[in-house]
Amino acid sequence: MSFDFATQFACKVFDDAVMRERLPKNTYKSLRHSIDENVHLEPDVADVVASVMKDWAVEQGATHFTHWFQPMTNITAGKHDSFISPQKDGRVILEFSGKELIQGEPDASSFPNGGLRNTFEARGYTAWDCTSPAFIREGTLYIPTAFCSYTGEALDTKTPLLRSMQVISTQAMRILRLFGNRTSKRVLATVGAEQEYFLVDREKYEKRLDLKICGRTLFGAMPPKGQEMDDHYCGRIRLRVAEYMRQLDNELWELGVTSKTKHNEVAPAQHELAPVFCSANIACDHNQLTMEIMRIVAKKNGLACLLHEKPFAGVNGSGKHNNWSLSTDDGLNLLDPGKTPYENVQFLIFLCAVISAVDDYADLLRMTAAVAGNDHRLGANEAPPAIISIFLGEELTSVLENIAKGNSNHQNSSGILETGVETLPTLPKDDSDRNRTSPFAFTGNKFEFRMVGSSQSIAQSNYVLNTIVADSLQGFADRLEQASNFDDEIKRIITETMEQHGRIIFNGNNYTEDWVKEAARRGLPNLPTTVDAAGALTNPKNIAVFDRHHVLTPVECHSRYEIMLENYAKTINIEANTMLEMVNKQILPALIGFAGDTAASYNELMCAGVSNATSLRLAQTLSEAIDRISAETKALTELLDEVHQNHDGALAAASGYRDQILPQMAKLRHAVDKAEGITASEAWPMPSYTDLLHRV
Ligand code: ADP
Ligand code: MG
Repeated sequence: MSFDFATQFACKVFDDAVMRERLPKNTYKSLRHSIDENVHLEPDVADVVASVMKDWAVEQGATHFTHWFQPMTNITAGKHDSFISPQKDGRVILEFSGKELIQGEPDASSFPNGGLRNTFEARGYTAWDCTSPAFIREGTLYIPTAFCSYTGEALDTKTPLLRSMQVISTQAMRILRLFGNRTSKRVLATVGAEQEYFLVDREKYEKRLDLKICGRTLFGAMPPKGQEMDDHYCGRIRLRVAEYMRQLDNELWELGVTSKTKHNEVAPAQHELAPVFCSANIACDHNQLTMEIMRIVAKKNGLACLLHEKPFAGVNGSGKHNNWSLSTDDGLNLLDPGKTPYENVQFLIFLCAVISAVDDYADLLRMTAAVAGNDHRLGANEAPPAIISIFLGEELTSVLENIAKGNSNHQNSSGILETGVETLPTLPKDDSDRNRTSPFAFTGNKFEFRMVGSSQSIAQSNYVLNTIVADSLQGFADRLEQASNFDDEIKRIITETMEQHGRIIFNGNNYTEDWVKEAARRGLPNLPTTVDAAGALTNPKNIAVFDRHHVLTPVECHSRYEIMLENYAKTINIEANTMLEMVNKQILPALIGFAGDTAASYNELMCAGVSNATSLRLAQTLSEAIDRISAETKALTELLDEVHQNHDGALAAASGYRDQILPQMAKLRHAVDKAEGITASEAWPMPSYTDLLHRV
C-alpha cells in the first residue's frame, strides 16, 4: 500500500484548502482575517464555520468533537462530546454551534495549576485557536484550544505560546520596517522539532514495572554490548521497525504532519523523526500529535515507544532538537545570512538580538528543558551540558568580532557597514563544522536548541525564545528609530552585543571539564538539576520580561514554578515507590529462591560426595547481595518517610528528593544490578537490558 499524497495527505485536516472550498466566500474571508491578523471572529461567522466543520467531520465518520488542550503535564487532554441533539419526536439531529466551537468549559480542578485557582473556581475555559487547524482522529473532531482559568490565567502551554507569537511578530516587524521592508505583514517564529524515541518489544515491556510506570528502567545490569561500536546511528532499519515507521508516517501525513526524515539514532533501539518546519504554534501541536501517535502505532505493532529522556542507563538518552528561526509571511528567513550586504546587516541585527537574549536569559532558557527525566541526560557526555552557550561557527564569530573591533580589513569588506553600500562577506549558508556538542547552535539559517527533553512539550522553549528575542529586538528598534545616524547606531549595537554578551559564544567542545570551568569564569549559569533550574521562574528579571510582553503574569510565573517542582518531587516519589515494589515483590523473592536453589544443589552435590566450592561461594555471595539489597531498601523506605514529613513547601520537598532520595535510589540500584550479574537468566524476574535493547 503506497501513500497517495494527492488524496491522502492532510485528508483528516480542516485546513485552508477545505475551508476555501466549503465555506461561503465571506465567511472564509472573515476567518482568514481572524487567523492572519489575530482578531476575534464574529459570533454569526463562527456559527457558519462550526456548521460547515461539523458537516465535513460527519462525512468523515466523526460523531464527537473535543476541545483539545495542553495542560502543564507535557501531554494533551480533552473531553469528547457527541454532536447529537435530541428532538421532540425522540430522534436526534447533529448540531455544532459557533459557541461550542469557540469556547468550552472543562472542569479544571484535576489539572496542575500551581495554586492558581481555588477549588470553588474549578471551572476552566478552553478557547478555540484558529491558527492551528482542526482535525479528525478516531471519530472525533479535534479543535485545538488554549486553556485558561475562570479568572483568565493560563493553565496551559499554548496560551503563552500564542501570546509570544504576537510579540515576536510586532518587534521583528519594527526592525524590518527600519530596513525598508514594506511588503511583509507579519513575522512568524518557525520551528522544526526533531523527536528521538526508543522502541522495545511490547511483551518484554509489559514485564517491566519500571518501564510501564515510570517510562525508564530503574534497574538493569549493563549489557555486554551497548552503543560502543557506533553501529546503530543511521544504520539499516530492521524490518519490524521499518514497518512501524511506515505506519507512523502514514498516520501523521493524514493529519497534515510533515514527517520528513527517519533514521536510527546512536543507541541500540533508538530512532528519530524530523518534520519539515512550520509556525511554532502548529509545530508544537504537531509534536504533541507525533508523540501520541508514536505510542499508539507502537502498541498496534506489539512494540512500546519510550519517550522518556533516559530509559536506559549506560546508553544515550533522548532529546528533542528544537530548530527555531524567524520568517516573514512572504517567506523571508530572517536568520538566513543571505548574499547581499543589505540583508547581511539586517541579518546581523537579528543575530545580535538572539545573542543578547540568550545571554541575558540563559537561566530561563535552561529552565525550559528542566524535567526530572532530563536531569539524567544534560551534562552527561551525550547531550549538551546544563550550561547554555551559543555556537556560531568561526566565520560568523569573526565577522561580529571584526565589526566590534572596528576592523575594516575583513575579507571582501572595504570599510564596513555603510548599509546597503559596501560589502560584507557572503556568509556560508551551511557551516560545515557543525558543532554537535552545543546546546544552542547556529546551523546555517536557524538556531538548534538541543537541550529539550524527548518527553517535553516544546511550547515552553519556544515561548521563552520568542519573548526574550522580542525583548532584544524591542530595545534595538527603540534605539534605531531614534538614531540620528542609522549606520553608526547599528555598528554600536553590534559592538555592544559582542562586548556585553560575547561570553555566551563558545565554539569549542561543550562536553569537557575545561568548558565547565571556563563557563564559570565567564559567569555563565550552570544549573545542573531541575530544582536549580526552576528558580529562573522566580528571578525578578525573568518575571519582568514575561510581564513586559504580556506573555506570563507574575502570578502565572509563580504557579509554573510550583508546578515544576511538584512535578519533579512526584516523579521521583513514584520512581522510588516503584523500586520498592519491584524489590519487595519481584527481586528479593527471586534472589532468595535462586540462593536457596544454589544452596540446595551444593547440598545435593555434597551428599553425592562431590564437593563444589563454586556453588557454595555463589550461595554465599547471593546471600550477601540479598542482605545488601534489604539494607538499601530499608534505608530508602526510611528516607521516603522522612521526606514525606517535610512540609516546608515545594522547593524543600523537591530538594529532599534530589539530595536524599535520588542518591539512595542509586545505591539500591547498584546493589540490585550487581546481584543481577550473578543470577541465572531464568531466575531473574524481568527482561534484561540485552532483551530490551537488542531483541526488538
Ligand atoms: P540535523 O539532524 O542535521 O539537525 P535535520 O534535517 O534532521 O538536521 O533537521 C533539521 C530540522 O530543522 C528539520 O526539522 C527542519 O525542518 C528544521 N528547519 C529547517 N529550516 C528551518 C527554519 N527556517 N526554521 C525552523 N526549523 C527549520
Ligand atoms: Mg538536529
